[in-house]
Amino acid sequence: MIKVVKFGGSSLADAEHFRQVAEIVHSDKDRHYVVASAPGKRYAEDVKVTDMLYRCYEMVRAHEDITEYYEQIKKRYNDIIADLGLDFDISGELEYVKNAMLHASGRDFAASRGEYLNSLILAKFLGFSFVDAENVIYFKENGQFDAEKTQQMMQEELKKYEYAVVPGFYGSMPNGTIKTFSRGGSDITGSIVAGAAGADIYENWTDVSGFMMADPRIVKDPCSIATITYRELRELSYMGASVLHEDAIFPVRTAGIPINIRNTNRPEDVGTTIVATATTYDKKHIITGVAGHKGFSFINIEKDMMNAEVGFTRRILDVMEDYELPVEHLPTGIDTISMVIPTATLEGKREKILAAIERRARPDSVTIEDGIAMIAVVGRGMAKAKGTAARVFGAMAAAGINIRMIDQGSSELNIIIGVDDSDYETAISAIYHEFVK
Ligand code: ASP
Repeated sequence: MIKVVKFGGSSLADAEHFRQVAEIVHSDKDRHYVVASAPGKRYAEDVKVTDMLYRCYEMVRAHEDITEYYEQIKKRYNDIIADLGLDFDISGELEYVKNAMLHASGRDFAASRGEYLNSLILAKFLGFSFVDAENVIYFKENGQFDAEKTQQMMQEELKKYEYAVVPGFYGSMPNGTIKTFSRGGSDITGSIVAGAAGADIYENWTDVSGFMMADPRIVKDPCSIATITYRELRELSYMGASVLHEDAIFPVRTAGIPINIRNTNRPEDVGTTIVATATTYDKKHIITGVAGHKGFSFINIEKDMMNAEVGFTRRILDVMEDYELPVEHLPTGIDTISMVIPTATLEGKREKILAAIERRARPDSVTIEDGIAMIAVVGRGMAKAKGTAARVFGAMAAAGINIRMIDQGSSELNIIIGVDDSDYETAISAIYHEFVK
């Protein structure tokens, strides 16, 4: 059995966390490949090493002296080594990184050194080999991830080592320079390593015990989700983003490898497992979770005989495309159609969009309405369990909430509801407590 384990920045922020990580890794000999982030925050006001490196890069560009600031970065790594009692001298590496930054090695190079240095230390501490992501993760000329080349090179390299640490977050361009994924990208590296290693499971260790059924800032101590499918997770993406990078799903999903989100500080918790398909569902709760977001707007359009006018929807969607506006939902009536879009994307474009819709579609009226929150009630069991919608709407009525919009995906995996921003928290709480008694 092969397990690929990724540890996030908060799990590798200091020596104490390194020890916890070592205990987790050594407690299961199936944990062959470890992907590491850069040291994260040790306490709320602390600064992540990645952010410090970005700052150094900016300072160099502004011709400011980084000597003093860079000392803080050095200290983060040297403290970890000293506190672990490791016989390991990283000063040469630290000096090299500083010099490279001073000689215009690039923004991505600077940021990537956070995981590079941390992984060197972790490999040493675990007694594992070190595989530099630079030699196994590749991007194409246009900056896109090169899945084919990476798969081949990574497979060849991993075969050589029974146990290894791979730094997360970066790879190399065809010309050999370093390129990073977007922020939080070590999750993607973990997923790629899992795919190439043909892992049985990808464990993603972080500082929460997986996904909760609802936002804990709204619902006190919500139940955690034991199993969730990739599609359900997408539907719940309003809440998923902070736990797992969205792009981390693809490499393991295609290979059919489940992802297990685990808590480094509470290794006894089983966490949440993300799977391709699940034949069963939680009969007690029916729904898998409820999540949402404030800050949406409706663009409401009315026109008599709209239903008979061929091409009407295309014309208004053309306008949305021209103005690069993402349409999240498109609820319709016979003579009305609304588009739900994030309010922020309308910034500075409102008048132009209204005018363009008037011109292209000649509606009877078109208006924009702000202050809408969108809520997704998601569960693979909803298609099978009758009366789920009635329970959702009953809970809303009992809480005195006016539902502004309803949409059900054809997969019957979700019910989407629009409410006024001011009703958002009450609605989430009412739905959660309807299903979790
Ligand atoms: N260290 C990088 C960041 O802070 C990547 C990661 O932690 O996944 O975004």
